[in-house]
Amino acid sequence: MRIDLHTHSTASDGTDEPADLIRRAAAAGLDVVALTDHDSAAGSDEARSAADEVGISFVPGMEISTKYADAGVHLLAYFVDPANAALGAELDRILEARRTRLDTIVARLNEHGIELTTDDIRRQAGAARAIGRPHIADALVARGIARDRPQAFAEWLSAGRPGHVLRYAAPLPRIIQVVVAAGGVPVVAHPWGRGSRSVLDTDAFGDLVAAGLAGLEVDHQDHDETDRSRLRDIAAVHDLVITGSSDYHGTGKTAHDLGSNLTAPDQWERLRSLASGAPDVVRP
Ligand code: AMP
Ligand code: FE
Ligand code: FE
Ligand code: ZN
Repeated sequence: MRIDLHTHSTASDGTDEPADLIRRAAAAGLDVVALTDHDSAAGSDEARSAADEVGISFVPGMEISTKYADAGVHLLAYFVDPANAALGAELDRILEARRTRLDTIVARLNEHGIELTTDDIRRQAGAARAIGRPHIADALVARGIARDRPQAFAEWLSAGRPGHVLRYAAPLPRIIQVVVAAGGVPVVAHPWGRGSRSVLDTDAFGDLVAAGLAGLEVDHQDHDETDRSRLRDIAAVHDLVITGSSDYHGTGKTAHDLGSNLTAPDQWERLRSLASGAPDVVRP
């Protein structure tokens, strides 16, 4: 069984429509695929229908922007009830902060002589509710200011560059609790990826487990073999589920092809059994 539990569509900063992503996942030989757009599950219905058509299992999810000790940490939330009011309120606040940040970034770039409008970016973002730096990167490419997303980040959008503006993110332990209360299963995405490496130490994981954390995404492109082996040990100490995923973004990110990292079937069974919401949305 080939299981990939972290992908992005045009409902956030991926480049495939949700249904196309699912068809590609089937073509890539995946049996189970989760859609985990940033701060939104808007692509779920479309993805689920496509998965039914092509005969693979679909896992609803999202990747929530949180912070821990002032560093950004991404939290994967599987099987949450999309109608849960507390979760909806948290997501609304994050999405509103994304919109406010967008205006600030455009103003900053304008000050640096870059001709760019929020409309340029909204055009790139299309239907995405979570407008992010990748869409700004796409707008810079469309204007001929950058060659591609990575170059736009390196020159304009990464930490220390003119278009880097912090935005609100919700406290991680609180969001873990909200996700669990919404029937979901919380898993820290790429715990030692960009940004969160020095923040999430052994003590921090203890805190998060106390809040209800269920798993760690160990097998991810951002982690080398040493990271993976240490994270596996930490997961064992706290009896956490271990996942592996591609973090696919379509053409928006290289080295993240569908199925490039996978979750073991026994770990997937555990994760699924922890969902108190509606695990029946996934066919056996
Ligand atoms: P945001 O959530 O708007 O701050 O944007 C963060 C997103 O940008 C991440 O989830 C990645 O998908 C993407 N990203 C971050 N750094 C880079 C980079 N150097 N090149 C391409 N995409 C990146
Ligand atoms: Fe992303
Ligand atoms: Fe992430
Ligand atoms: Zn992601």
